[in-house]
Amino acid sequence: MTEPQPPETLRPETVVVSAGRPEAAPDAPVNVPVVLSSTFHAGGPVGYARTSNPSWEAFEEALGLLEGGRCLAFASGMGAVSAVLDLVPTGGVVVVSSHSYSGTAARLRDLEAAGRVVVRLVQIDDPDAVAAACEGASVLWIETPTNPALEVCDLAAATAAARAHGALTVCDNTFATPLLQRPLALGADVVVHSATKALAGHSDVLMGAVVTADQDLLARLLRVRTLVGAIPGPLDAYLALRGVRTLALRLRQAQASAYELATRLQSHPAVRNVRYPGLPDDPGHLVAAKQMSGFGTIVSFETTGTAEETDAMCDRTSVVIHATSLGGVETSWERRRRWIEERPDIPETLIRLSVGIEDVDDLWTDLAQALDALTP
Ligand SMILES: *Cc1c(COP(=O)(O)O)cnc(C)c1O
Repeated sequence: MTEPQPPETLRPETVVVSAGRPEAAPDAPVNVPVVLSSTFHAGGPVGYARTSNPSWEAFEEALGLLEGGRCLAFASGMGAVSAVLDLVPTGGVVVVSSHSYSGTAARLRDLEAAGRVVVRLVQIDDPDAVAAACEGASVLWIETPTNPALEVCDLAAATAAARAHGALTVCDNTFATPLLQRPLALGADVVVHSATKALAGHSDVLMGAVVTADQDLLARLLRVRTLVGAIPGPLDAYLALRGVRTLALRLRQAQASAYELATRLQSHPAVRNVRYPGLPDDPGHLVAAKQMSGFGTIVSFETTGTAEETDAMCDRTSVVIHATSLGGVETSWERRRRWIEERPDIPETLIRLSVGIEDVDDLWTDLAQALDALTP
């Protein structure tokens, strides 16, 4: 008989399916159930459900194995982002991409306005600029590829620069997921996720997560989560893990379609500046090819129309959904600047397209007829 394989030797495509399951025993369930209990019998390490819950732990085991650290689940991506920002000492400098998720950017602006932190914006795809900005910093906050500009940061170079200056590196790995990019292995100290997106993958749950291999950081983050209370519901954690089960399959399909659609978009007369790290002529392609095992499912581009015409275009599709968020099985698009929190230097007509798992020709037919109406 062969020995069972230890989980750390299994490939990620297997881990997404096999991790976070109950011990095998006759008639034991194969899934950790939704545990609805706010308190637990005395004598154990948990005691009260603001500290932990078996349904979260199953999700945490899976994401921790995938990222190569220990995971804590949060109520949302922003709950996870906020818990990590809580670790910045008062007056500490946070170096952050001049384009990053609008919620993270807005939270940092508020913290800076309150005198809590100092924010230093940097062009995250310029390694020399990143290295220079890390001088005197407490935290380097990386998103790669960035949301929604799709710039690519050289993770190994950036984390080395941060470490040389004694700064912690945090990487928001929402766009890539651990199946395409493992920031801890490339030198990051902490990974954050909006599990709402590709991890859960079905646009039916909000959840977030933090992963680190540093025991001290983990203990501090657990304390923040427990005392601030940004905890997920047990059903949300169950749904997120159920989504993770098909992550490898969904990414494979969506990423192939994203490349195909990015290529077709490049030759449409109503489209300019297509950004997708998988395109050979994309400015981020070489770095992405070095540090990612796939280029992801998000494409951005600008249109030749006005903001109003572009909003109207987004309403003209029937398969592609006009909605915010990303990483779902359904393809969706939106003009990012329709949100007041989006950065003013993101172009007015920039569209973020999140590619799902539908048939790629159906997607292109739908997108092309909406774009055609823009062409003068
Ligand atoms: C959506 C998103 C977040 C915030 O996550 P929520 O689950 O919506 O709170 C953070 N970072 C990135 C890159 C995102 O796309």
